[in-house]
Amino acid sequence: MSGALIGLILGAIVGSFLNVCIYRIPRDISVASPSRSFCPNCGRQIPWRENIPILGWILLSGRCSQCSKPISLRYPLVELTTAILFAGCALVVPFPTLLSVWIFTSLLIIATFVDLEFLVIPDVVSKGGIVAGILLSLLTPGLHHVDSRPAAATQSIVGCLCGAAILFLIGALGRLAFGRHRIRLNAPAPFRFEILSTEDAQIVIDEETFRWQEYLARRRDKIVVHVEDATLNGRFYENCDFTFFYDRVATPRQTVPVDEVSALAGHAASIVLPREAMGLGDVKLIAAIGAFIGWQGVLFTIAAASFFGSTYGLIAAAASRHEWSSGAVDATSGRQDTR
Ligand SMILES: [Zn+2]
Repeated sequence: MSGALIGLILGAIVGSFLNVCIYRIPRDISVASPSRSFCPNCGRQIPWRENIPILGWILLSGRCSQCSKPISLRYPLVELTTAILFAGCALVVPFPTLLSVWIFTSLLIIATFVDLEFLVIPDVVSKGGIVAGILLSLLTPGLHHVDSRPAAATQSIVGCLCGAAILFLIGALGRLAFGRHRIRLNAPAPFRFEILSTEDAQIVIDEETFRWQEYLARRRDKIVVHVEDATLNGRFYENCDFTFFYDRVATPRQTVPVDEVSALAGHAASIVLPREAMGLGDVKLIAAIGAFIGWQGVLFTIAAASFFGSTYGLIAAAASRHEWSSGAVDATSGRQDTR
């Protein structure tokens, strides 16, 4: 039982660090510096006693002690989730395999909460997870219930490839079925982004318009514009993807809420309109999962994810409605996180 207690305490502390990763990774802020946590609203450094996992948030009644802006419920939630999962793992997984399982759990928690807020899975988590999964299989072969290191590494690589192959296939079939629509332009064409109202915006490419209300009806929908060059709020970009969601624009370097885009224009090479079942991020993440738990784990994960995904989809479709100025996204992710 003492193992579970250690898991609980360590989990809460690790969860506090995962919060830092969840906030900083998608915003491209270093996880190491600044080393002290800060209030996303007023920038005040958080003293240690307010930074105690879970308790800190309760003591502050969920508000910054300087600017009294609400602190996202995500912080105690991530700490509590990590604590419970770490304790649960400690009950069923022996040491030292437990350490690898804890790392795996941490990666999944980061992926989940970043994906919830930004609808992307960061490469550090997915690609990094693949590398970590293979290395940790070598170090703790118990991950795959074997004693030999080469056997565990083989299981890991097979799981990784198996996961990627299955999801890639599902994605390809999905695209056939739903007809993802890519428009490749013969030559780079001038494009610009315009806000029309508090609920509508558009992308104009070569004087052809792509309206938000027409293409971004669902929360998961996105428009991907491959830009030859573009300037977003004074920052210059070259040869990369701009991903537009109904409430924000994601670039390789930053994510900007739609209502904070003051100027965005450049030249586009192609535009992909929504009808996509799944992104490459999911394929990379399942490959990482396979690297940790092998092909059997991958099959279980995909079956379970399909079940929960379609259940959620049915409920969400029944209750679907959105606006970027308010609503479910902000309530769950904590708008004060946005710079
Ligand atoms: Zn503050």
